[in-house]
Amino acid sequence: MNQLLDNLCIVMVETSHPGNIGSAARAMKTMGINDLRLSSPRKPYSQETWALASGANAIVEQAKIVPDLPAAIADCQYVIGASARSERTLQWPQMDSRECGICVAERLPLQKVALVFGRERTGLTNEELEHCNALVHIPMAFDYMSLNIAMAIQVLSYECATAVRLATPAEAATTDPDEVLASAEAMEGFYTHLEQSMIDARFLDPENPRLLMRRMRRLFGRAEVTVSEMNILRGMLAAFAGRKFHRRSSTD
Ligand code: SAH
Repeated sequence: MNQLLDNLCIVMVETSHPGNIGSAARAMKTMGINDLRLSSPRKPYSQETWALASGANAIVEQAKIVPDLPAAIADCQYVIGASARSERTLQWPQMDSRECGICVAERLPLQKVALVFGRERTGLTNEELEHCNALVHIPMAFDYMSLNIAMAIQVLSYECATAVRLATPAEAATTDPDEVLASAEAMEGFYTHLEQSMIDARFLDPENPRLLMRRMRRLFGRAEVTVSEMNILRGMLAAFAGRKFHRRSSTD
């Protein structure tokens, strides 16, 4: 789970249906987001809340209930309001869901960020929108429709979690030395081996090599070969020639 997502909270303003709170909690949990804040929910939790939370009960139990939006976002440095309409006439910074994920991923290491969702029937008021630094709209096939609030929370949670994951450097994601990319030196050793193997097999005519090796370099360069994959390729070439290839590690 990415710890950065602990800096992201979801705010639901005056939610009418207690079931939506359960669905929202489930959507958040699937994406690794845990901080739910409820600004004046209209009804107490019901059986539906717990049924729809389905395993995300802890998020509902720990949800902070506050009287209004300013109280919900008091400790946040950046606030994004989710709007069912693309507010083309409003002079306010706007983004789509993908841009929102990237924006959140850039901020989370330094700031606490809130995503604010409006009432099921009427959304957010203009006054509430003014509390937001920016607005986000999930593009839809029909502008006159809106998403169910928990589904909107799912989409934006997914975009944020994905952008955070992509922003985490790939080296940090793997500690297995066999799964890092093969070095340029190892690639050169492979190309020499491959070229010789193709000459030995009379597939490549050294008198008339044409663009074969350049194409091979393009192909394997695109493949981003790892150390373990390189060992397979070298082992395979050696085996075709009836020899044995001695496995290398990334530290050789
Ligand atoms: N009739 C209301 C719809 C509210 S839907 C209106 O026009 O505002 C409830 C909440 O879900 C919205 O306030 C918004 O926060 C979120 N939501 C629904 N569809 C969305 C979309 N396409 N993009 C962003 N948020 C959306």
